Amino acid sequence: MELLEDFYIEELKDVLDAEKQLTKALPKMAEAARDQQLKAAFQEHLQQTEGHIERLKQIFKRLEEPAKGKKCKAMAGLIKEAEEFLSEDAVPEVIDVGLITAAQKVEHYEIATYGCLATYAKLLGFNQDKELLGQTLREEKETDGKLTVLAEGLNIEAAEGESTEDQEGEEETEQSEEREETPVR
Ligand code: FE
Ligand code: FE
Repeated sequence: MELLEDFYIEELKDVLDAEKQLTKALPKMAEAARDQQLKAAFQEHLQQTEGHIERLKQIFKRLEEPAKGKKCKAMAGLIKEAEEFLSEDAVPEVIDVGLITAAQKVEHYEIATYGCLATYAKLLGFNQDKELLGQTLREEKETDGKLTVLAEGLNIEAAEGESTEDQEGEEETEQSEEREETPVR
């Protein structure tokens, strides 16, 4: 049981760091989102994420352990991928698709972590922890579901985006033709 408790504490430190990384990434994702509902979903999840950190702090307090994170490399990697996607010349129409993909990968990682932690809390007889971890787990699952619904709505928008791009292309051509005509006049 002592080894399990040590593992449990290490994993709590890992997820604390992961959540802290997310509080920095989510505002950037909200800013980059083009769909207003997606923007709002990221902002709402930022609030929830702050709550997740609070719950973890409560657990550390109860364990009489310092609430100190340990660098979560997996979350750093997931966020880095999202940043790379946004920095490479992301086509505007697929920005939201890419953001949702990145966010769902993050949620699934959190679901796995909190699912395990809630199970270990139960094994260790830490019922209060199990309750707190279960609350966070539910919010992560809800967010994941919400993102799926938003993605289903976005596919159409992405397809429409292609035709908008074509129209813009035509406008540019027209403008350049006008510019060419000017010296003749
Ligand atoms: Fe979280
Ligand atoms: Fe989350």
